[in-house]
Amino acid sequence: MALTRDRDGKRLHVKSRLMGESLVSNKFINELELPPQERLFPDVKILKVGGQSICDRGKHALPMVVDEIARNRKKHKMLLTTGGGTRSRHIYSIGLELGMPTGIIAKFGSTISEQNALLVSVLLAPYGGILIDDDSLVKLAQYFAQGSIPVIPGMPPYDLFALPPAKGRIPIHRTDVGTLVLADLLGVKDVIFIKDEKGLYTDDPKKDPDARFLPEVSVDELLKMELDDLIIERPCLEILKNSSVIKSIQIVNGMVKGNITKALNGKHAGTIIYSR
Ligand code: ADP
Ligand code: MG
Repeated sequence: MALTRDRDGKRLHVKSRLMGESLVSNKFINELELPPQERLFPDVKILKVGGQSICDRGKHALPMVVDEIARNRKKHKMLLTTGGGTRSRHIYSIGLELGMPTGIIAKFGSTISEQNALLVSVLLAPYGGILIDDDSLVKLAQYFAQGSIPVIPGMPPYDLFALPPAKGRIPIHRTDVGTLVLADLLGVKDVIFIKDEKGLYTDDPKKDPDARFLPEVSVDELLKMELDDLIIERPCLEILKNSSVIKSIQIVNGMVKGNITKALNGKHAGTIIYSR
């Protein structure tokens, strides 16, 4: 490795393309040519089991979702993430009214998505379900080789370092975001969000009966629409747009039998949001 000195001879560098750069310059970042991102697990499908939308329904939703996932275990390599749901919202509201900062609220969210990951992994245990954590992600290949279905809490581990949002103190990077960031990390093409609605509408269909269903939309179009409410966390749109590996995400109603299987097989079963 070639060593080189600054022009004034005082600072020693290891010669590389990033040498002496602040890594902040827009010009530098725009002109930096990189090889394409490696797909670490291109054949894995990530599925998020909704917190509020699925887990909170307990015996009225989880057994059928677990059953459909189990039926697909021979055909697909699946990694599951879990949302938080109503228990997160409960502790968020207590924390917020006591003036807790974003990092504390985010940490609360992590513990609830951990509860749901434990629950889903135990229900799936007879079919290979196994609870994992961030450190175990590097061992994914071994889990798949033994036919397991790893389940990880969906909350990204920003925890106490969660970024304060533009407004308020509810962390904006929650379990949908964690799921999508994981998909980018693993180079996964198919991300499936299992929720309790057919997909994305122009507004929350639970509140607005006139909301129009959108079966397919590009992320650019969706960003332009500036919808007031969404079925996935808002930063997901930018992550999908910026990722060079995730092609599209699909949101399906997990309470309609067959939808998860269709989505796993690359068929249209809800709303598809594609990046380009
Ligand atoms: P999860 O449990 O997976 O985190 P959420 O409950 O946070 O899911 O989000 C899903 C809910 O978002 C849906 O059940 C729906 O009521 C609501 N929602 C809000 N805006 C929309 C929209 N534009 N289209 C569809 N659903 C929406
Ligand atoms: Mg949610």
